[in-house]
Amino acid sequence: GVPEVPVRPIAERRVSRRIQVGPVAVGGGAPVSVQSMTTTRTSDIGATLQQIAELTASGCQIVRVACPTQDDADALATIARKSQIPVIADIHFQPKYVFAAIEAGCAAVRVNPGNIKQFDDKVKEIARAAKDHGTPIRIGVNAGSLDRRLLQKYGKATPEALVESALWEASLFEEHGFRDIKISVKHNDPVVMVNAYTLLAEQSDYPLHLGVTEAGPAFQGTIKSAVAFGALLSRGIGDTIRVSLSAPPAEEVKVGIQILESLNLRQRRLEIVSCPSCGRAQVDVYKLADEVTAGLEGMEVPLRVAVMGCVVNGPGEAREADLGVASGNGKGQIFVKGEVVKTVPESKIVETLIEEAMKIAEQMEQDGVAA
Ligand code: SF4
Repeated sequence: GVPEVPVRPIAERRVSRRIQVGPVAVGGGAPVSVQSMTTTRTSDIGATLQQIAELTASGCQIVRVACPTQDDADALATIARKSQIPVIADIHFQPKYVFAAIEAGCAAVRVNPGNIKQFDDKVKEIARAAKDHGTPIRIGVNAGSLDRRLLQKYGKATPEALVESALWEASLFEEHGFRDIKISVKHNDPVVMVNAYTLLAEQSDYPLHLGVTEAGPAFQGTIKSAVAFGALLSRGIGDTIRVSLSAPPAEEVKVGIQILESLNLRQRRLEIVSCPSCGRAQVDVYKLADEVTAGLEGMEVPLRVAVMGCVVNGPGEAREADLGVASGNGKGQIFVKGEVVKTVPESKIVETLIEEAMKIAEQMEQDGVAA
């Protein structure tokens, strides 16, 4: 197993209500969970389950599937039963699919208040069905589909408009005694999004699902999400996250996990501390860092490995890490816990680091606790 390391998170978490999305607790101090969404046709049960399995393997904890048609709704029961992680049905237009999803045993249902027109008359029935099945509802407000009434009132999807939409929708459920709710107020602009969640966090105690919507291709989307989530999580706001990328969903999960690890909201695993290289470098640092990263991929222990291009800052950084190399004169000085354990020719650096990493990992697992 993975040794538990005491982590000091970046901030005290905001106090929120707790809901259960299947076995995953969201809010109320539960660890921030990572979500993604399938890109397959949900009605294609095989392909969807295959993608869910890949997402599960990449560390995804909750998965959302779209449900735009009756065929998709019909597939939900099998998908919910066979998925290893809780499945949330994403319903945009048709209240009847909300009932179908609840009855199919989905772990939660996401509804979009802006899109579900005659929602008002259905809320009571939805609240009752959800309560009977213990199914939480995510109220997912989206800048792109904001209620026309609010668009008119505010002129555009401002933070205030997003929050008003979400709280109004929540109040409809509250009227029926239903509070098993989490909320998202997504926007593609990280500044608007951060302001919206900040406002929402002040005005309610519901757990919050963070997302920058339509964040873009991998590079841009990663940065937008990291910056926006960082701004919120560093103030304790956010209970579950989804990074939206125009890239395979497993990439979203990798980014999400890395964001949480960076903020100490999750135990760090392998961490490569490599220098940016400069005119002093005596080795190809990029290549070395890539090779070491590839060689150690999948290691579950919280290991810091320093890869340094020269002996100026190299030994200092390498000493701070569990393991490290400082290169110079065609050789690599290998450090373990601050001590030079050996000096090897450049061609042996990668394999020696991997060997030493395995030894340390084994020791960490034996000890149960790592520093
Ligand atoms: Fe440059 Fe050496 Fe620092 Fe790397 S460790 S950035 S090569 S001075």
